Parts: sequence; structure tokens; C-alpha cells
Amino acid sequence: MDFAVSEKMQTILELINEFVDKELIPLEPAFLQGQWDDLVPILLEKREMVKKMELWAPLHPTEYGGMGLDLVEYGLVCEALARTPTGVYVFGCQAPDAGNIEILIKYGTPEQKEKYLKPLIAGEIRSCFSMTEVDMPGSNPVMLESSAVKDGEDYLINGHKWYTSSADGAAFAIVMAVTNPEAPPHQRASMIIVPAGTPGFNLVRNIPVMGHAGSGWHSHAEILYQNCRVPQANLLGPEGLGFVIAQERLGPGRIHHCMRWIGICNRSMELICQRALTRPIAEGRCLADKQIIQAWIAESAAEVRAARLMVLNCAWRIETQGQKEARQDISLIKFYTAGVMQRVVDRALQVYGGLGMTDDTVIASFYRFERASRIYDGVDEVHKVSVAKRILKEYAVEHRLA
Ligand SMILES: Cc1cc2nc3c(=O)[nH]c(=O)nc-3n(C[C@H](O)[C@H](O)[C@H](O)COP(=O)(O)OP(=O)(O)OC[C@H]3O[C@@H](n4cnc5c(N)ncnc54)[C@H](O)[C@@H]3O)c2cc1C
Repeated sequence: MDFAVSEKMQTILELINEFVDKELIPLEPAFLQGQWDDLVPILLEKREMVKKMELWAPLHPTEYGGMGLDLVEYGLVCEALARTPTGVYVFGCQAPDAGNIEILIKYGTPEQKEKYLKPLIAGEIRSCFSMTEVDMPGSNPVMLESSAVKDGEDYLINGHKWYTSSADGAAFAIVMAVTNPEAPPHQRASMIIVPAGTPGFNLVRNIPVMGHAGSGWHSHAEILYQNCRVPQANLLGPEGLGFVIAQERLGPGRIHHCMRWIGICNRSMELICQRALTRPIAEGRCLADKQIIQAWIAESAAEVRAARLMVLNCAWRIETQGQKEARQDISLIKFYTAGVMQRVVDRALQVYGGLGMTDDTVIASFYRFERASRIYDGVDEVHKVSVAKRILKEYAVEHRLA
């Protein structure tokens, strides 16, 4: 593959990097105080600036007001934006909205597009994705129990979900529920749009995650669906296709996440180098003179470079050969990049010593919130098992062991 970045993308990335440095990194102290709601009005002003610069919604099609970048280009944008925690939000490409927008574009009816998709892309409303359940394993979602039963013209939804990220203040949820209990496991569930104000949509709490319950976009909710009634017209895509659509949502989504994690690695590397070069450690000596710190810098640089090339290559494979062909690559980048990020952020925290544990730098926030990267969108172990099975199968066939 050709890793060259086009002139157009070069310009876009320069503009984004400059915006992140000048407009967003200075907001980090406010973000790190944990008062998301207080920060939102300022972030909305920044969004207006982004729209004027014509850098809004980089991933989404131009006919809906986005920039229409392809997956490799958008990956590079995620990398640049993730150097600071509010980047993706300010540019209108934050999860879970980005994934929901993709499936609404592909499967939404004209009415659903008008009511939910257009205001979502415009940043006028937010959404959430409600699949994981309290009592069933998220790593084997075909076991999910939430039900959507037909009742006249409606569905009656019942279920106990949690980790519905960004549900607080969202206008609607896309809910995964069993509509066809007798069907084979992968055809039992469907996706249904549930407006947040619907009676029976009960947001129990924002779950404290690593000591932080958060609010608004920056939160994860527990939700009880209790006889929650929505019209059957709210079905998103064909009945029974929920898992297929979920997979379609997750594939490119993993490129977005992985490139975001590379951006976090890049910022952590910047912080490591700044600190190592300025922190005195003995008379006339700074941290950067110590070989162990030099080794961390070199190891981190190698791991980040390797992960970055793997992710870009995977994005290119998805674009040119399709998601099915890139299945193995998607699993590889998901667990490998998350692991690299965890090690690099950990080294940054160690280099900063006591300061690294505080919220006076962004490192502790990366450490807290990004640990989840090895859990959401497929736990490490499931990705590793699936890669290994495929490799063993190929080996067995090649060597006539099957
Ligand atoms: C920050 C965050 C945000 C999230 N956002 C959303 C969201 O917006 N919407 C949503 O629906 N969900 C969301 N999730 C939920 C997430 O998708 C699930 O947590 C994930 O799928 C794992 O499911 P589980 O928590 O039920 O763990 P379990 O399935 O109970 O697994 C627990 C552990 O068991 C081990 N394990 C599981 N399967 C295997 C296996 N086959 N082989 C070996 N070991 C295994 C792994 O170590 C795993 O970590 C989010 C989670 C987090 C942490």
C-alpha cells in the first residue's frame, strides 16, 4: 500500500493540529476538573469555529454536511484530534454518534433520516447505543435477553442495560433487543430507535467508572427499559439483522478507536520528552540522560510506529477489499494498539512521578479512561482467540492436519 498523505490531507491535518494546540489543549485544565456540563458552552463555540473552517464531521458524507473523507484519511484525522480529550467532540465525530450515523445512513428509512440522522450529523442532538446488559456477557452478545415484543402497531421493550455511553442528555438510543426468540442465535435480535423521553426509558444512573460518574457526553449510563413502547416504524434495518448491523458498525469503528489511541500515544510521547528534557534528576543531569528513560522512549517509538502502520494498513484493506477480508487485521489492531497505548501512557505516568498521578497533566485522565480500550468493542481475549483459531485453521489445512 501507498502510505503517502495527499496534499489535501496534509493541509487538513496542519489546520487540525494547529486548532488542537491553540484552542483545545488550553481547555484541558477545565476538562480535568471533571465539570463536563460547565465546559459544553465553550465547546459549542469551538464547534462553530470548526464549522466555519469547513472541518466539521470529517467522516460523514458531503451530502449530509460532512467532509466525506475515506477511512484512511479519517483515521489520520482521529490521530490528530485525539491528542486532547475534547478533540473528536468538537469536530463532530465522537463515539457513539459516529457509529450510529453510519448505520442510520445505511439502514434508516427516509423518515428516520429526517428525524434522527440530519440533526445528529448537524450536532444539534446526541445519541447512544444500548446493547450491553448487566446480567449477560457483553463478550458473547448473542446471549442478550432484552426483548422487543410486538403489541398492535408498537414494540414493547423490556431489558436492563448498562454502559450505554453518553445516554445522559441523548435524544435517542439505538437499542438491541430480541425480536425473534425462535430464530438461530445470530438472527434473534434487532435494532430499534427509542427516543429518550419515551415512558419506560429509565436512566437509573451514570455509572462511576474509575471514580468518575461524569455527565452528558462524557458518561456511561445504566438504563432500565420497562414496557417501553415505540412504534414498529422505529425498527432500524430489517428485523433479525441486529448482529449483522452491529458488526458493520464495529469494523470501521475500530479504525477510529485505534487511530485515536495512536493520537493519545503521540501526545504521551510529547509529554514524556518534554518532562525528560526538563526534569533535573542530579546536579547537571536531567531525566533524559538516564538510559532507562531513553529505552522507554525508543521502545514506545517503535511500538507506536508499528501499531500505526498496522492500523493504516487495516484501514486500507477495509477500503480496498472490504470488511470481511480484513477481519483478522481488525482483531489484530484492536488488541495490539490498545496494549501499546496502555504501555506508553503508563511510561508517561511513571516519567512524571507524583505529578503523573495528579490531574495537573492529561496523563492520569488517559490512564483512567483509556484502560477500557481493552474491554469495549471486543475484549482482548476474544480478539486473540479468534485470530489464533484462524491461524491454526490455515496451518492445519496447509499441513493436512485438519
Ligand atoms: C468505557 C466503556 C464504554 C462502553 N460503551 C458501551 C456502549 O456505548 N454501548 C454498549 O452497548 N456497551 C458498551 N460497553 C460495554 C462493552 O461492550 C462490554 O463491557 C464488553 O463487551 C465486555 O462485556 P462484559 O463487560 O459483559 O464482560 P464479560 O463478557 O462478562 O467478560 C468479562 C471478561 O471475561 C473474559 N472473557 C470473556 N470472553 C472470553 C473468551 N471467549 N475467552 C477468554 N476470556 C474471555 C475477558 O477477560 C473479559 O474482560 C462499554 C464498556 C466500557 C468499559
